[in-house]
Amino acid sequence: MRQLSDRIEYDLLLVGGSPSNLTLAYHFLELAKASGKEFTIAVLEKSKEFGAHIMSGAVSKPHIIEKVWPNYKEMGFPLDAVCTESNFSVLGLEKKWDMPPKLYPKSFDKTGYLVLSLSLVTSWMARQLEAKAKEVPNVSLDLFTGFAAHGVVFEDGRVAGVQVSEDPKSEDDYVYAKFTCFGDKGFISRDVIDHFKLRDCPQIWSVGVKEVWQCKESYEGKVWHTLGWPLLDGTFGGGFVYGMKDNKLTIGMVISLDSRDPNMNPQLKLQEYKKHPWIQSMITGGKLLKYGAALLPEGGYYSLPKKFSVPGAVLLGDALGVLDVKHLAGIDRAMECGYVAAEVLHDALIKGDLTEAALAPYQERLTNSFVVKEAYGNRYFRWAFIENPKLLGEYLPEVAHSVDKSSAFFGMWKVWFKHPLGAPIDGVRSLGLIEGKINIGPIKYEADYKHIIPAFVTPKYDEPHYDKATIYSRPDAVFYASTKYHEGNKHIDEFNATVCVDCIKRYEGISKTTPCVADCTAEVHRIDIIDDVRKHGMSLENCIHCRTCEVVCPEVNLRVKPTSQGSGPDFLGL
Ligand SMILES: Cc1cc2nc3c(=O)[nH]c(=O)nc-3n(C[C@H](O)[C@H](O)[C@H](O)COP(=O)(O)OP(=O)(O)OC[C@H]3O[C@@H](n4cnc5c(N)ncnc54)[C@H](O)[C@@H]3O)c2cc1C
Ligand code: SF4
Ligand code: SF4
Repeated sequence: MRQLSDRIEYDLLLVGGSPSNLTLAYHFLELAKASGKEFTIAVLEKSKEFGAHIMSGAVSKPHIIEKVWPNYKEMGFPLDAVCTESNFSVLGLEKKWDMPPKLYPKSFDKTGYLVLSLSLVTSWMARQLEAKAKEVPNVSLDLFTGFAAHGVVFEDGRVAGVQVSEDPKSEDDYVYAKFTCFGDKGFISRDVIDHFKLRDCPQIWSVGVKEVWQCKESYEGKVWHTLGWPLLDGTFGGGFVYGMKDNKLTIGMVISLDSRDPNMNPQLKLQEYKKHPWIQSMITGGKLLKYGAALLPEGGYYSLPKKFSVPGAVLLGDALGVLDVKHLAGIDRAMECGYVAAEVLHDALIKGDLTEAALAPYQERLTNSFVVKEAYGNRYFRWAFIENPKLLGEYLPEVAHSVDKSSAFFGMWKVWFKHPLGAPIDGVRSLGLIEGKINIGPIKYEADYKHIIPAFVTPKYDEPHYDKATIYSRPDAVFYASTKYHEGNKHIDEFNATVCVDCIKRYEGISKTTPCVADCTAEVHRIDIIDDVRKHGMSLENCIHCRTCEVVCPEVNLRVKPTSQGSGPDFLGL
């Protein structure tokens, strides 16, 4: 691996060793092998090795993996299972109800999909890329791990490259490129979106928290997506449980950050989820192997930037925002972005055309592909639940409680009985939006933190009986994210300390804590008493880079930056 030194200009600079960018690089090598032209490519990945900062579910339709690596199964691809049984269930506090398939959207049927650990898949992709590069001597490929891009370089109206030092002093601290490709989940590419004013409708986010368990029994190939317990306060989200080979089990929750609850605490919600007797029956006597958290862009079609490329750069995957919540699918979309970008960038470089027009086919082709077509079809899925808070705040809890007491159908009848006119009207409207059958024109989300109601009262329930050994406090859970930081690490900016002092007073004044302290997935934010003043402090050595704190801070007073020297969590195996 070469050292970064001198002024460096590549043909392609890939920011993030992500599924999208690794697909881009691999397919580009195939195209370059055929064209025989000379190219230089660099991939910058902030984690110490490829995959170590990647966290996902995941179940994924194999169509794009098959397109890029038709014989992936014979190539040592890290397949954890093929889904043989797909369930969509509602949880009460004690019982689970598996819905008949006709009652939930077909997009939740994952039969035949691959069950994956995306961190391991990404690591595998990087190895395939290295092997492929050996067959294509006309391409010089530099893979830099432990190297973050810290800022975007804008020159003469275009993206010219990135800054690779937190505190740049000389040309050595920049890497330049004809085209920069951002597959960085927005860590720095949000500056591209802001710089070129690409977004009218803000992105909205959810956080995914997940554990991998070693169980006593095998649940290989079984997949559950759940609604209900412990999300019975109107917050959008649900749980997922994926059975993998070797008796491993993924247990996770995806929880939207537009929750009204300022003290929602996603890690605690995951522990409450695990207290359900159905999950207890699977993990009791088992062993926790890994823990992690990451954001998911949920806005979909209307949160997409107006342009998918700008002069000198393209946006891919979660950085672009193509994840489809209704399909619970981001991996195949991210990879398709990479595949299409490779062809568009290869064409542009061969022609020597570095103009904005040369990149236009990227957006055109994605718009005509399943990526944007399905996003368009599902454009109101998320909105349906924002527009009508009763769906999750009243109707779902009624059905969930009936799952425990009698039957879910009785719960549905009770909803109808309590709202004889409203419920059927709500049902027709919401289904119309969810299925994309009603057109209400463009929508505009509010930023997540704007939904916080400081005095929000969370419903209290008697918790089910559970085995204490299966439940982990937040400080204990962090151990399973294996965080490691270099000395002097300062990767979260707090912009204004006085704003924090006021925020602490406001929340403590109503017997709550601040959203950053409550919702951090890894026990980073804390309140310190300094000179008798309650101030915001951070234990950065615990941080697992999810960026939840930044999204929920009601004062927009934080920025989580990429870390240097490979610091951060180790998600390999998640
Ligand atoms: C809990 C959870 C469950 C999910 N479940 C599913 C599922 O079941 N099916 C599905 O299809 N999708 C699922 N997704 C979504 C899916 O994981 C994402 O859509 C997908 O990973 C996006 O890929 P990407 O190419 O955009 O890159 P990402 O996966 O976002 O990877 C970004 C990479 O860029 C690196 N990086 C970031 N900033 C920098 C920088 N400045 N410099 C250098 N490197 C940088 C990161 O370290 C990381 O390696 C889930 C996501 C989560 C969080
Ligand atoms: S970082 Fe944000 S949420 Fe945390 S104390 Fe400061 S203002 Fe409040
Ligand atoms: S400090 Fe912020 S980015 Fe780090 S783990 Fe906590 S919520 Fe996530």
